[in-house]
Amino acid sequence: MNRALLASLLLLASCASTTAQQPAETTMVFSPGVAWVLEGKGWAEEAEAVFADATDYIQAEAETRVPKSWAVVLDLDETVINNVQYQAERETLGESYTSESWYDWTQREEATLVPGVADFLAAVNTAGGHVTFVTNRSDTEQLATENNLAALGLTRGEDFRVLLTRARPDGVSAKDARYDILPAMLAAQGYPDVDIIAYLGDNVGDKPAEAGDWTFFCIDQGAMYGEPCAAVPGPGQ
Ligand SMILES: [Mg+2]
Repeated sequence: MNRALLASLLLLASCASTTAQQPAETTMVFSPGVAWVLEGKGWAEEAEAVFADATDYIQAEAETRVPKSWAVVLDLDETVINNVQYQAERETLGESYTSESWYDWTQREEATLVPGVADFLAAVNTAGGHVTFVTNRSDTEQLATENNLAALGLTRGEDFRVLLTRARPDGVSAKDARYDILPAMLAAQGYPDVDIIAYLGDNVGDKPAEAGDWTFFCIDQGAMYGEPCAAVPGPGQ
């Protein structure tokens, strides 16, 4: 687990308790999903196991495909990058998600990598695939998001080729329209006839609404946010 993060959160919790004139020794109790991800045990191992399965899948597929003729699509939040610090800070303040506080969090560029994702993305690139990201982060958050990714070692052109955010206020959360234009975007960049062979995400909406010739891999984030794809979010599977 990240001891420095936990220590800072406990300090924040202590300050919040003092402000509320509660006993300073009050121990912050996070929601089960946040506590599970924050602690890291089990959560990190599950994520690494899913990415290992996904790696096996794309490497087997790559053997039957022409290099640069296939792609994978990943959600960002709680799939590629971990925002448990934001969730823990909100719970410490007794608050929940707001678009304003989320925007402020994205501008800090402090999200961390989900365990196992870096090796998976490297495997996709090595095997001859394209990495694309489709996220419901806002277009106004795109620059900070790319800075955050770059700080984590993931740069456009090197590690991923496409990052599609959601336009505000009129862009819809459903990602199908953005999934649909990915092959055309890759064709315009010199890679025609690309097949999307896998989707990876933590929410039910992180894959097309209609089934297709692709495989979905679900990252369990313990029901920390949104509508999880995990059948039983949290410890165990
Ligand atoms: Mg997500």
